[in-house]
Amino acid sequence: MLVERSQIPPEGLDLEVREEPCWEGVEGLWLSLAPVEASLHLERDVTGILASGTFSTTAIIQCSRCSEPVSVPISDSFTILYAEAGEAFDDEEVELSAAEMDVDVMQDQRLDVTKLLRENVLLNVPLQPLCRVDCRGLCPHCGINLNENTCECRVQEGDPRLLPLQQLL
Ligand SMILES: [Zn+2]
Ligand SMILES: [Zn+2]
Repeated sequence: MLVERSQIPPEGLDLEVREEPCWEGVEGLWLSLAPVEASLHLERDVTGILASGTFSTTAIIQCSRCSEPVSVPISDSFTILYAEAGEAFDDEEVELSAAEMDVDVMQDQRLDVTKLLRENVLLNVPLQPLCRVDCRGLCPHCGINLNENTCECRVQEGDPRLLPLQQLL
């Protein structure tokens, strides 16, 4: 979805967006991703577009320990100044603003809302999600899911000094 800078009225533009994440290059980050719901407020800046808003979605990701699917809510808010590539980054005002907010590049005076949402979702995807905080993962020896089963490997190969600890778990 593209928004032309010229389409944004002086008072700004509010958008409710629902984006189906048919995104390339993100295979393997999640098993599935629900549509991204976002509320955006766009304003014309001197040379670009100031975009602020919130988004939320839910990803199904494999637990980093046991590989079971985990439902992970993802949401965040953002304020990003989109400046035209080239000239705009020399602008003093852009440099001043950059200290307080993210600055990104747009092309041909158009904001790519799909790209904006994609980048913000990717920034917030947990890299090592857990199905639960105390997930025991898979046994490194036999591969059994230690949340559901127990195996003999740990007992046999464990450090005897840790045995009292293991009994506590
Ligand atoms: Zn797990
Ligand atoms: Zn085992």
